[in-house]
Order: sequence, then C-alpha cells, then structure tokens
Amino acid sequence: MRRQKIGILGATGMVGQRFIQLLEHHPWFEIAWLAASDKSSGKSYGDAVKWKLDTTLPAHIAKMPVSPATPEGAPKVVFAALDSDIARDLEPKFAAAGCAVISNSSAFRMQEDVPLVIPEVNADHLPLLENQSWRKQSGGYIVTNPNCSAIGLVLALKPLEERFGIESIFVSTMQAVSGAGYPGVASLDILGNVVPYIKSEEEKMQEETLKLLGSLKGSRIESLAAKISAHCNRVPVEDGHTESVSVKLRKPATREEILAAWGDFKPLAGQNLPTAPAQPIEFVSADDRPQPRLDRMRGNGMASTVGRLRPCPLLDWKFTVLSHNTIRGAAGAALLNAELLVSLGKLDPVAVTA
Ligand code: NAP
Repeated sequence: MRRQKIGILGATGMVGQRFIQLLEHHPWFEIAWLAASDKSSGKSYGDAVKWKLDTTLPAHIAKMPVSPATPEGAPKVVFAALDSDIARDLEPKFAAAGCAVISNSSAFRMQEDVPLVIPEVNADHLPLLENQSWRKQSGGYIVTNPNCSAIGLVLALKPLEERFGIESIFVSTMQAVSGAGYPGVASLDILGNVVPYIKSEEEKMQEETLKLLGSLKGSRIESLAAKISAHCNRVPVEDGHTESVSVKLRKPATREEILAAWGDFKPLAGQNLPTAPAQPIEFVSADDRPQPRLDRMRGNGMASTVGRLRPCPLLDWKFTVLSHNTIRGAAGAALLNAELLVSLGKLDPVAVTA
C-alpha cells in the first residue's frame, strides 16, 4: 500500500511537533511538506524548530526544508496547527486550492458548514463538508477537531447522553501549560501558581461540547439542548488536562449503569483506524486517579480516563476526567479524523490503495 503524502501547516509548533511524532511510522500517511511562518520558511526543519518532545527528531525530517505557508507545492492533504487568527486567513486558501484541511484551530469549528468531529462521538456530522463552497468549487474542504479541553469531556459524556440523556453539565478544568503552545505561559506566571483565566476557553468548551453532542438536521447541526458552565484554569502541569465534572441526567442512573455505559462504549466509527484507542474511555477505580503524569498516555495518549465517580449533592453525579491535550486533544484527534475520512473514501482513496 502506497502511503499518501501529507503536509503540516504550523509544523514547528507544539501541535506540529506532535504531528511529526505521530506520523513518523504511520501506515497510511507520509510527511512530504512542512510549513510555518516567514521566520522559519527557507530554513531546514531542524534549524527552525525548538524540538520539545521526548522522542528524537527523526533525521530525515530535520533535513526537510520549511516551505512558505501557501498552497503552491503543498500536498492535497494538509494537517493544520496554526493560531486561530492565522488559520482564519490561511486555511480557506488551502481549501480553495483543493486541499483537505484537517484543522486544529478554533477559527472555523463553529461555522455552520464545517464539521467539528470526534470519530467515536459524531462521525455522522461529516456530511456537512459537502455543503462547503470550497468543496463544490475545487474539491477542497475544512474539517476540525475540538478544543483540547472539550474532547476528553465529550468522550466521557457521549455514552451518558446516549443512555440517560443530559440536562446540565458543570466542569472546572486544570489545564497543562503545553496547551498554550510554545513558549506559552511565562514561567514566572505559572511556577507554583494557578491562573484562573484562559482567553475564550470557557466559551469554546461550552459551545463546542453542545455542537459535538448535537444532531445533524438537514444541512446544520442542532446543538444538544443542555445547560453547561465551564471554568478554565491553567496549572503548572506539562501535558494532560484534568477536569472536575458534575452532570444532571434526564433519566436516573446507578453507579453500575454509568460504569457500564463507559465500559461498553466501543463505537464503530473509531474502530480499526490505526490511531483509535481500543478503549476510548478508561475507568480507573483508585481514589486518587486519574492523574496527568500517571494516566495521560493511556491508549497511547488517545484514551479519555475517568475516575472518582460519586454522587453529586447539586447535580446527579460527579467524576474526574483526564486527556492528553496535544495527542487526544490536538494532533492525534486530527489524525483520527483523517483516518476516518480515508475510511469513508473522502481523502483521495485512490492514492491510499494504489
Ligand atoms: P504554537 O506552538 O504557538 O505553534 C504555532 C505554529 O504556527 C508554529 O509552527 C508557527 O511557526 C506557525 N505560525 C505562526 N504564524 C504563522 C504564519 N503567519 N504563517 C504560517 N505559520 C505560522 O501553537 P500550538 O500549541 O501548536 O497550537 C496550534 C493550534 O492548535 C492553535 O490554534 C491552538 O489553539 C490549537 N490547539 C492547541 C492545543 C495544544 O494543546 N497545544 C490543543 C488543541 C488545539 P513559527 O515557528 O515559524 O513561528
């Protein structure tokens, strides 16, 4: 099987580096093009990047040139890891040039004709992409994955919504510093400290969660009719977002029924894709888990780990959820979306199977 050539926009950033790490031995995709800002373009990737991951930068990637962030010369499949204001300008140019843009940025997540997708949760939202003007004119399109704090939460909520219905959600996050990109939060602001503000994060968590759990009605998504309140905090943790969650359900559920809903959650759309975790939601029973350092790499960083399930005196149930913000919350999420698009024949299947 020939691997499909892909490009990475924003290849030098925290998420871009994760793409390189996750794609290094990918069975379906091959990195053929790297792009970043003007300050990096023209350099070799090894000279342009400040490599921050605990695996070695592959030598052949280090030698690759960083290209300008324009569609000329880019492959037809592009993973995008750009800041949202830059993405708002650049991603449509790639889609208009016929590229499938698999995006991490928030720029288009809430646009009516742009699918916001977690394969295990709402693969049925993907047909929205057929409504995009780029799709109709050039074949290109934009598909997005959610904010890094919404994704772990939504994986844990989906089985509860399916079995019991959800009336309201209260969530308070403890988000890792790598979620702010590099160099991110100044060390003097975060060491020995907690910052109870992440710009626009609470709004994104609230609206994206309801879109992801919503239903495709004709050519638009009807968001889930539930109340949600998010508090977002930055904490001095390197990787892994931890969240304290309370939910009010529409039908009563026992602890055993909730555990069964999580344990049984093995949706078709996430199965047999190379990056999909065998168990998308892992429950840990120890009183003091999940913890970011100990649990973020469950399912190769693609599982959402839940624990501390107990009755909530305000709503019905409360629990803790943890997910890896740059793997499940960013590069791994986009990669899984691309694999789903391949499996549906929407990502140049000829090249993949030739
Ligand atoms: P980052 O570390 O700041 O990296 C930003 C990347 O964008 C770098 O490669 C940078 O290249 C490039 N860039 C900046 N200006 C550019 C321009 N004008 N043209 C082309 N490329 C440009 O950010 P990040 O954490 O990787 O985040 C990237 C996106 O993913 C953001 O939208 C973020 O919200 C989203 N996201 C991040 C996480 C996370 O946990 N970090 C999770 C989910 C989603 P240079 O090196 O040349 O400046």
